[in-house]
Amino acid sequence: MIFAGNFKTNHTRSSTKEYISILTKLVTNERVYIFPPSIALDKFEDSSIKIGTQNAYPTKNGAFTGEIGLEQLDEFDIKTILIGHSERREVLNENQEDIASKFKFFQDNGFEIIYCIGEPLEVRKNGEKAVIEYLLSQFNGIDLNYDNLIVAYEPIWAIGTGVSASIEDIKGIHKALKEVVKSPLLYGGSVKIDTIKDISNIDEVDGVLVGSACLDANKFYEMMSIK
Ligand code: PEP
Repeated sequence: MIFAGNFKTNHTRSSTKEYISILTKLVTNERVYIFPPSIALDKFEDSSIKIGTQNAYPTKNGAFTGEIGLEQLDEFDIKTILIGHSERREVLNENQEDIASKFKFFQDNGFEIIYCIGEPLEVRKNGEKAVIEYLLSQFNGIDLNYDNLIVAYEPIWAIGTGVSASIEDIKGIHKALKEVVKSPLLYGGSVKIDTIKDISNIDEVDGVLVGSACLDANKFYEMMSIK
């Protein structure tokens, strides 16, 4: 199983350091990714945990106020990026074209990409066929044959709401996505200690992308230990 934790705008530089040190000592054989805020990016040299960036601008450097580019990521050997997260699509207004060009840039630079897709509630209300159609449109301009790719299905209505998608829903959507996605496929959206067992037992789920429930290192590890 892959366990990816997205801190979003939580944790500081010092609390991230402490978190990584705690989790590093606990984690043995899971594949674990942590996405701290950019201010907390660092090398964390003695850790098996992969550190990724939640976002970056598709540039080496330049005049892009408030953004970070390759040069800043290279300093810490960061080679993993989250692209297409619904908060960047919905709150920060990144459109599919922006997302596809960001994808292309980081693909060309050999990054491991966790690419997020997910439908809003209005689409979900129209049934599974409408959901699949919507999700497939989020692959426009995206090279699904990229071999350093992980896809994360995260229904927007399940993110940060405490209401995860049902096991049946996850199974149905993942099964349909697996027809086009050959890379590992994660589920995300209010994954918690009480739901991890059922979610990780779904054959088509290769891992989880976790927001709020990853913020405490011990609790995140507890989630990884539930089989
Ligand atoms: C996320 O933002 O990727 C996420 C899944 O958040 P949460 O676990 O809080 O729903």
